[in-house]
Amino acid sequence: MAGAGLSCAVIARELAEAGHRITVLEKRLHVAGNCHTERDPRSGVLVHVYGPHIFHTDDEEVWNLVNRYVTFRPYVNRVKATTGGRVFSLPINLLTINQFFGKTFSPSEARAFIESRADRSITEPKSFEEQALRFIGPELYEAFFKGYTLKQWEVDPKRLPASILKRLPVRFNYDDNYFFHRFQGMPEEGYTPLVQRLLDHPNITVHLGEGLAAADVARFDHVYWSGPLDGYYGFDEGRLPYRTLDFERFEGEGDIQGCAVMNYTDASVPYTRITEHKHFAPWESHERSVCYREFSRHCGPEDIPYYPVHLTEGDALLQRYQARARNERGVTFVGRLGTYRYMDMDVTIRAALDVARAALAG
Ligand SMILES: Cc1cc2nc3c(=O)[nH]c(=O)nc-3n(C[C@H](O)[C@H](O)[C@H](O)COP(=O)(O)OP(=O)(O)OC[C@H]3O[C@@H](n4cnc5c(N)ncnc54)[C@H](O)[C@@H]3O)c2cc1C
Repeated sequence: MAGAGLSCAVIARELAEAGHRITVLEKRLHVAGNCHTERDPRSGVLVHVYGPHIFHTDDEEVWNLVNRYVTFRPYVNRVKATTGGRVFSLPINLLTINQFFGKTFSPSEARAFIESRADRSITEPKSFEEQALRFIGPELYEAFFKGYTLKQWEVDPKRLPASILKRLPVRFNYDDNYFFHRFQGMPEEGYTPLVQRLLDHPNITVHLGEGLAAADVARFDHVYWSGPLDGYYGFDEGRLPYRTLDFERFEGEGDIQGCAVMNYTDASVPYTRITEHKHFAPWESHERSVCYREFSRHCGPEDIPYYPVHLTEGDALLQRYQARARNERGVTFVGRLGTYRYMDMDVTIRAALDVARAALAG
């Protein structure tokens, strides 16, 4: 396995239980990939080192799987947003609409009002901007999406695919749960123990601080590669575009912002959000607090690739790498970097289970 994130940990476990001997090489000094959590030694706060992770899924098998290894606590993600010097509830819901427009709309009144603001001349939205204007009209788009999207992607919203907005629905009731999924929660001790326990099997050996190079693949019967797809080929066709994140960490006493996630949606504020990590574990209590101010920018060769960038004009470069990957024998490309897809943790686990089962069946 190249990598000890969720993808390879789940595949390793499935194959190990079927009797295969597995070597996991992880170039970082810890397991769990980008889901890695660790306690801040000074405050005791559980910190989501590579950005906050909330588990949510409709996939009962995946939910049962993660609950077999660690204890999950109920957790509902309730996001706030600051725009134009005021604080609102996200995703856009009836409270957001009523506060933003200074109204006391009922659900049906709000729906009719938003429809009157929406641009119905756009019948087939081709971009993120068109999708937003068609759904919610210019005011809410400008306040909550335009500046935020520019900061997040540094791309004109006209060049981003319409599909991005499907992840940010509008609600005509007061439900401010960010996710719709049936199962939502947080592992009591963070995600790293989950991955450690997945990898804790007599048939699995983990080597930390050791990367796997494409040239070493022949040493193994089969390799599951959860590193970057273009990295496997030495970036010889060019680099697939990614966004990276910079986290400016700061600490203080007590409660710094009063919630886990505060988005800053105005283009004039350079960061996209502030996360206060102790609020991701509301069953704990700590006197001090640890926050991350999150900045998004283009990912350079030395940076951690976080989000793949898919533009409306298509992914010719990606298609060339994918064509080569399909012809590989002895290597399977998995996970968010190996398949160049944004994947939530539950999707990652589901995909990993499917890959492992296909291998065992074949
Ligand atoms: C900022 C952010 C927030 C997120 N929030 C959520 C959330 O709230 N909820 C949710 O469900 N999902 C969230 N996700 C998605 C989640 O992080 C992924 O689903 C998960 O990390 C995917 O696991 P993975 O194993 O595919 O990749 P990774 O976690 O990236 O693991 C890959 C591992 O492989 C290692 N590696 C790479 N190349 C090599 C090599 N050549 N040799 C050895 N090791 C190598 C890397 O060091 C890394 O440890 C978020 C993602 C980001 C970026």
